[in-house]
Amino acid sequence: MGYNPPPDTYRHQGLRKQLVQQIRLKGIANQQVLAAIEKLPRHYFFDSSFLESAYEDKPFPIGAGQTISQPYTVAFQSQLLNIQKNEKVLEIGTGSGYQACILAELGARVFTIERQKTLFDRTSKFLPVIGYPTIKTFFGDGYKGLQAFSPFDKMIVTAAAPYVPDALLEQLKPGGILVIPVGADDVQIMTTITKRSDGTFEKKEYGAFRFVPMLEDKAKEK
Ligand code: SAH
Repeated sequence: MGYNPPPDTYRHQGLRKQLVQQIRLKGIANQQVLAAIEKLPRHYFFDSSFLESAYEDKPFPIGAGQTISQPYTVAFQSQLLNIQKNEKVLEIGTGSGYQACILAELGARVFTIERQKTLFDRTSKFLPVIGYPTIKTFFGDGYKGLQAFSPFDKMIVTAAAPYVPDALLEQLKPGGILVIPVGADDVQIMTTITKRSDGTFEKKEYGAFRFVPMLEDKAKEK
């Protein structure tokens, strides 16, 4: 991934239409989510030698042992979040920044945290270049949330959480939704936790997904 995006050709646009069709057939019905995936060039987030892989419905390595999530998973989590315009949304696990851009396309004010310094540096520089200067990136440990900017309308964790961090529940607005894949082993259960107005929580589960682990403490600078 360089600091200049490659061109977005008709061919890329055609491949995106096909990708959206596949995701739709797998059960994603939210039109705004499908439109965001059709609009955002996923190949921008790939090294030029791997551009061919950008429009397969698969996760892909992005360096530092991490992956860009599968488009279906991005769509599934985005659909569960049910973003309304101008909502304040916290993402844990910036990675490539692809999911953050999808949230921005859905009208969210996006705050995103990454614990790997190399990914944080690269993605922070890259997002303004591809047209997303308003996404706010933070280097830190997502287990702690982002107290200074709380509370949030919505939160999304894009790494496998062994448990639901208390800080995230505390920093959620009443009526807010946290979407988090929970599980320490190979497979996680996609879970939504909604904060009721009386401060209690309602949990729902949505089947099995696979994520890279959510690790505690931010990685060292060097
Ligand atoms: N949303 C990303 C997918 C990233 S994969 C995308 O669209 O590309 C998960 C990311 O979570 C990795 O980059 C990993 O470094 C990061 N991560 C893991 N544990 C974390 C933590 N405690 N706080 C913040 N980020 C974390």
